[in-house]
Amino acid sequence: SIVVTGASGALGRLVIDELLKRTAPGDIVAVARDRAKTTGLAALGVGIKIADYGRPETLEGVFATGDRALLISGNEAGQRLTQHRDVIDAAREAGVGLLAYTSVLGGPTATFSIAEEHIATEQALLASGVPYCLLRNGWYHENYTGALAGTLKAGAVVGSAGEGRVASAARRDYAEAAAVVLTGTGHENSVYELSGDTAWSMAEYAAEVSRQTGRRIPYRDLPQERYVALMIEAGVPALGAQLVADADAGIARGELAATPGDLSRLIGRPTTPIAGSIADALKRLQ
Ligand code: NDP
Repeated sequence: SIVVTGASGALGRLVIDELLKRTAPGDIVAVARDRAKTTGLAALGVGIKIADYGRPETLEGVFATGDRALLISGNEAGQRLTQHRDVIDAAREAGVGLLAYTSVLGGPTATFSIAEEHIATEQALLASGVPYCLLRNGWYHENYTGALAGTLKAGAVVGSAGEGRVASAARRDYAEAAAVVLTGTGHENSVYELSGDTAWSMAEYAAEVSRQTGRRIPYRDLPQERYVALMIEAGVPALGAQLVADADAGIARGELAATPGDLSRLIGRPTTPIAGSIADALKRLQ
């Protein structure tokens, strides 16, 4: 089977969509920790397994010998390395044929905090001896376009990325790449640096939002601490706010700007331009 963990999340759901274009629903197993979030997936005819990365006993039976699997990184910062290790152990014990992992663009060269658990997970996966595929995902367009309502309300794009460039791509582009790897051949023990074809600066992003809305939306660059405080004021939990601002510092250093073209090569088409995702997000706001 093709096993996808984190299937209840935004990326996981898109991976399942893309898998369904390439294989039968009966070949797919969607793994989630919350059964209530799996009703839509079950309706698609895919298999459902319930497991929590944080409870190793629930991981028994998730994988079977020869499965091809995707471990979608968890969203509980600080707990992820232990959780991912337990999933990797379960995959190894079952004898999976391929374990793909959603890592971070640049892998060990990324020095911002969010990257730490990804880098350590990569090391655990390599040490496990399980045939691996590192999907080193860059930033999602949706990290920005998902915040457009707030951007329009504030009348400015706000961040602390300076003049750094981001080679982001649509979440669906990354999902399609994962589906290509899971249904294809020859991806064992490989590393893909997945990013958008074009890297843009925050000022360019703000200019595109301005162009599409007909409003003057500038980019307002803030010192990291100011940006953290602003996010906390807006209701973002403190740890999340710090991680986002710290990643912006990484962007300012150029750590999410690489455009090696692995993503467009894997999916066989150009990546979705940021302008397209802005247009989609604005349509949804209407
Ligand atoms: P989501 O938060 O939408 O999805 C995360 C998925 O992981 C959910 O299905 C969640 O389950 C599942 N999960 C988390 N913890 C556990 C656990 N302990 N046991 C079982 N399942 C768990 O994120 P996305 O789908 O958008 O992105 C996927 C991952 O990529 C994120 O988790 C994060 O690691 C990373 N990411 C990357 C970004 C980028 O720009 N490249 C931006 C943001 C995140 P549940 O639905 O129950 O919470």
